[in-house]
Amino acid sequence: MNNQARISVIIPMYNEEAVIAETYRRLSDVMRRTGESYELLFINDGGVDRSPDIIRELSHRDESVKLIDFSRNFGHQIAVTAGMDYASGDAVIIIDADLQDPPELILDMLDKWHEGYEVVYAKRSKRKGESLFKKWSASLFYRILHASTEVPIPVDTGDFRLIDRKVCDEMNRLGERNPFVRGLVSWTGFRQVAIEYERDERLAGETKYPLKKMIKLSLDGLTSFSHKPLKLAGYAGAIMSVAGFVYMLYAVAMALFTDTTMRGWASTICLMLIFNGVTLIMLGVIGEYIGRIYDEVKGRPLYIVRETHNMQRVPSRETD
Ligand code: UDP
Ligand code: MG
Repeated sequence: MNNQARISVIIPMYNEEAVIAETYRRLSDVMRRTGESYELLFINDGGVDRSPDIIRELSHRDESVKLIDFSRNFGHQIAVTAGMDYASGDAVIIIDADLQDPPELILDMLDKWHEGYEVVYAKRSKRKGESLFKKWSASLFYRILHASTEVPIPVDTGDFRLIDRKVCDEMNRLGERNPFVRGLVSWTGFRQVAIEYERDERLAGETKYPLKKMIKLSLDGLTSFSHKPLKLAGYAGAIMSVAGFVYMLYAVAMALFTDTTMRGWASTICLMLIFNGVTLIMLGVIGEYIGRIYDEVKGRPLYIVRETHNMQRVPSRETD
């Protein structure tokens, strides 16, 4: 039965031993209530605590529990991508391991799926128990992203969602090295609908998304869905040239029509710093894109699996 589960739940985890047993309990409760066959795919993203052991033990007792154990930490988005590769369900659900996303919402997602929607994403109307900085920076990021791209990526929406098998198959064809899953799902199109929810606090443990990983995620989102940052150089250059030209006319006029010659070295230094600063920033922006092109060209595998448990299915990527 579990070999061909109708619903797959993907749970990426990174050092989540404090919550994972409870997550399993809440999720299996909800999944049993659906009356459908299901599999719980736990992806251990190189965590070094007991969470893979806990899942391994559970997988001996409950054959719906499956484990994909990465050889090291590859990142949340790649763990989710691996989950989509291995998932066999007609509907695939992505959920965080820390119970910030309430599993009970899955029932509403399934209702929408039965109505014919192919993507049901969960939009956060409120975030509890997170720092002001996190809420503020996340909100700003989603709005910048929204303004930078034509792809209708919904604001205030994480990866907690249900996708239909059709969408999952399309996602598995992409193979991007720095995937921004929530954006890519929107990019595939299909019939999408939102359901709103209040994001709970993390049940236990600390966030596994420090500032560095948040910045990486934002840059992945921006660079893979917009070329606007590259065009900034053109705009900045145009504005600065015009300003420089106007200032030059002013300096010439002062020299010709008044007795004062402008003393320039302080302003020269300021302009040099500004211009060189802008040039270096733009080189950095170009560097971001080139680094990503290089990642794609190298063609390394997206992740490496140490072992799996209860998993009969070969991931679609390997059968390509
Ligand atoms: N996670 C992961 N790999 C990482 C970082 C996080 O698989 O490198 C998982 C983590 O275990 C959790 C989910 O991604 O299930 C979201 O992380 P977290 O809850 O720490 O992020 P936050 O909710 O604080 O943004
Ligand atoms: Mg969390």
